[in-house]
Amino acid sequence: MSVFLLAVAFIFGAIVGSFLNMLIWRLPREESIIFPPSHCPKCNARLHTIDLIPIFSYLILRGRCRYCGEKIEPRYLIVELSASILSLLLTYRFLIYEQEPLSLLLYLPFVYALIAILFIDLQHYIIPDELSFFTIGWGIAIDILKIVKGEEELLFGFLPPAILSAIVMGVLIVLIDFLGRKMFKKESMGGGDVKLSAGMGACLGWKNALLAFFLAVLVGALWGIYLIARRKKEWGTYLPFGPFLVVGSIIAIFFAPQIIDFYLTFAGFR
Ligand SMILES: [Zn+2]
Repeated sequence: MSVFLLAVAFIFGAIVGSFLNMLIWRLPREESIIFPPSHCPKCNARLHTIDLIPIFSYLILRGRCRYCGEKIEPRYLIVELSASILSLLLTYRFLIYEQEPLSLLLYLPFVYALIAILFIDLQHYIIPDELSFFTIGWGIAIDILKIVKGEEELLFGFLPPAILSAIVMGVLIVLIDFLGRKMFKKESMGGGDVKLSAGMGACLGWKNALLAFFLAVLVGALWGIYLIARRKKEWGTYLPFGPFLVVGSIIAIFFAPQIIDFYLTFAGFR
């Protein structure tokens, strides 16, 4: 049974991955996501079903357009594979191992949005509002569902915890951004990072979102040092922060309890 579930999760993830590829191309260009049908960006040939099978088509065509031979960016394969693999891992962890279907329902769409955000921010230095607002709304919606099912309680008798977490994270990042501007006289994070952080708060809860934020800073710093050491960047050149928030969030989803435990032991709290 669980092998079957995992196979379904993998295939479902691949299909969502190819939808994400379309979003990654169209959202920053403000193209409609319904029309026109998929086409090759080079020769404009309309793609047929056989060209649009996730993962499989890319491999069969060896990463080239069937009609003009133009190289297809490996990003298409990377996005489909990461959506498949993360779907499989999330299903294993939250449905089969932890038996928390609501957590799976929360994290799958959140992680899909994160994948799209990562690749859009890397290329265009923006995080589309559609995606960050989706993560905020989705986190709150699932939280309300948990309250209705009695798995969670309203704060002060009226406030779903996800809303408070979204506000806490949003305000915190605005403050950090403000301090960064005062201290370094330049932009450290953008409005997109603030909205994404609010979405992380809504989906992860403020504790794990905070952990994800610190992981993002850590991974970002290591990546910056690596780039400078390889002489690919100078000090102070712009690196989008969104991709690190995405990586931090995904690590937090899978390893937050272990990391917090490790930290408390390491810092001598237990
Ligand atoms: Zn083509």
